[in-house]
Amino acid sequence: MARIFCIANQKGGVGKTTTSVNLAAGLARIGQRVLLVDLDPQGNATMGSGVDKRKLALTVYDVLLESASVGEAAVLAEKCGYQVLGANRELAGAEVELVDVERREKRLKTALAEIDADYDFVLIDCPPSLSMLTLNGLCSAHGVIVPMQCEYFALEGLTDLVNTIKQVHANLNPDLQIIGLLRVMFDPRITLQSQVSEQLRGHFGDKVFDTVIPRNVRLAEAPSYGLPGVVFDPAAKGSLAFVEFAREMVERVQRLAPATKEKIAAK
Ligand code: ADP
Ligand code: MG
Repeated sequence: MARIFCIANQKGGVGKTTTSVNLAAGLARIGQRVLLVDLDPQGNATMGSGVDKRKLALTVYDVLLESASVGEAAVLAEKCGYQVLGANRELAGAEVELVDVERREKRLKTALAEIDADYDFVLIDCPPSLSMLTLNGLCSAHGVIVPMQCEYFALEGLTDLVNTIKQVHANLNPDLQIIGLLRVMFDPRITLQSQVSEQLRGHFGDKVFDTVIPRNVRLAEAPSYGLPGVVFDPAAKGSLAFVEFAREMVERVQRLAPATKEKIAAK
């Protein structure tokens, strides 16, 4: 059974796409079968996996409009070892086109159910908004991974996301929970970052992942080569951290699994 995770934060530029492609590559590296879903019309996760968004015949847009299945639309990111359900500008139109359709927030969930046995992990790179696209992601997922920088205002932006997740949990997807906050672009030399990092730990406890992703120029350079840092420069500090994070995710999922089984048994 595939475990499905959204990488979400309604702020832009906080490291969602970097986390998505590098976690996908890290999981693939340790032998997991991974599908990366790009839910952002910017298509950065698609391009950052070496898949040319302009040349895709089918994308997540076609899946949301039910004119293609995930199996038909997903392509292999050859150098990365995972599959990509890509996105391009066309996806921006889906927001409007979905307004009048039935089950509009559950389109992705329904489509992913068909490929449940084919993958260990499905990662969904969300756009920087709490839109119908993000809602489709949240309705599909078992959990949310929230990348965040350890800055003074970091927590402020979190409230809207946490409220949205609570609402989706209550009304649309009882499975949904925040799996964890991932500290990214971390620079230990900056005292404030270390302080905020400690505050996060104090406040959210084990909802904060143990792994910390450092600020690392190789991670920032990798997308221009159409590769995740983990593939572009596996020995870079940032890449090693993402492989470590992949291991932590596998462990967390194993810890989650028994509870899910109990839930099924209780039904
Ligand atoms: P989002 O998807 O949330 O908009 P991105 O993943 O695109 O954010 O990251 C924003 C910018 O920060 C990009 O230019 C990316 O290369 C850079 N970046 C992300 N994580 C790191 C990191 N750990 N170290 C250095 N640069 C990073
Ligand atoms: Mg992005």
